[in-house]
Amino acid sequence: MIGTGILKGMAVTLRNFAGSYFEKDRLITVQYPEERIPLPENYRNFPFLIYDGDDPQAGLRCVACKICEKECPPQCIYIVKSDDKKPDYMGKPQFYPKVFDIDISVCMSCQICVEVCPFEAIKMDKEFELSKRERFNHLLLRQEELSKPNEYYHKICPTDAAEVDAKLTATSEAAAKKKAATASAKPVALAAPPVSTGPATSTRSS
Ligand code: SF4
Ligand code: SF4
Repeated sequence: MIGTGILKGMAVTLRNFAGSYFEKDRLITVQYPEERIPLPENYRNFPFLIYDGDDPQAGLRCVACKICEKECPPQCIYIVKSDDKKPDYMGKPQFYPKVFDIDISVCMSCQICVEVCPFEAIKMDKEFELSKRERFNHLLLRQEELSKPNEYYHKICPTDAAEVDAKLTATSEAAAKKKAATASAKPVALAAPPVSTGPATSTRSS
């Protein structure tokens, strides 16, 4: 019959309208921005860079290897590698990005940059309120805006952040053990007696 679909649709609307007074699940909208629905942990928007410690420069995990720049499908990452090395937050000399920009007007939030980074230096952010008053360049995020502390990553993705921390700790402990084993093996090798190359001969005659 003509109009049955419209009547069915209106019945659904009416049921949800009346039901919303009794069932919270039927209220599918919230009074944004006063009210906010918590974002799921796997929600992602645009990438950001992680730094350890308090200093965004010294603690930046990125070593400007440029893998993410090469793999980014729309080519929206731009990196200039440093000429020198600087100590990271643990005092180890590392290259660093002199420039690290992401054009988020082109970024398609695919997360490939995150997956290819060998240093756990780039992760996906959940920040979506990015509007600004300026008309130009506000969609080009510079290194200063992209750099955020590891604590922030723990806040937005606690499960992933804990896994990454455990992995990095295990890697650095394994490296420290290997270094200690190499250092302790050297004095033994130096102290060992020279290896004999043939049978001993006697010069005494009876
Ligand atoms: S974010 Fe990761 S993959 Fe990209 S340049 Fe830095 S260390 Fe390399
Ligand atoms: S999320 Fe995808 S498109 Fe965006 S910067 Fe990373 S690799 Fe490029």
